[in-house]
Amino acid sequence: MLELETKHEQCTICKHEYTSINTEVMPGIKIYVCETCLEAAKYHFIWVCMSCGQVYLRPKKLVIERVKDVELKRAYMLCEDKQIIQGIDMCIACDPEGIVNYMDAQKTATC
Ligand SMILES: [Zn+2]
Ligand SMILES: [Zn+2]
Repeated sequence: MLELETKHEQCTICKHEYTSINTEVMPGIKIYVCETCLEAAKYHFIWVCMSCGQVYLRPKKLVIERVKDVELKRAYMLCEDKQIIQGIDMCIACDPEGIVNYMDAQKTATC
């Protein structure tokens, strides 16, 4: 049997791959991301709910197109070719009321 040198953890995004790649989504909070999901992060913004663990993927182009807020749009555009995985405090599944502002752009992107 081969001994693995590095610690492998379950991928936070897809929850079936094991990986040693990790990233900080919030100060002090690390998540593990496998190569497949990291690849997906090139074309999608990925949000991970820190409260329930739900993962949201949204195509970057769609998100940027739908954002009305100029500041936010600029911020998103700067991220267009970066791999962005962000932690959010709660998602629409945890708090349908409180999330309205946070997820507004993403919500419209789905319909
Ligand atoms: Zn994965
Ligand atoms: Zn949640």
